[in-house]
Amino acid sequence: MAEQKYRCIVCGAIVTPNPDGTCPVCGAPREMLVPVDENGNDIEG
Ligand SMILES: [Zn+2]
Repeated sequence: MAEQKYRCIVCGAIVTPNPDGTCPVCGAPREMLVPVDENGNDIEG
């Protein structure tokens, strides 16, 4: 089963966030991560 992935709007990476919700690549806060589907497309709503 796929985990929910997020796109970091700071560094642009598709990531699985750290346990605290931050970007594992650049350390951006969770507010900078938008949920995406398995293909990397934004999920609306
Ligand atoms: Zn990032």
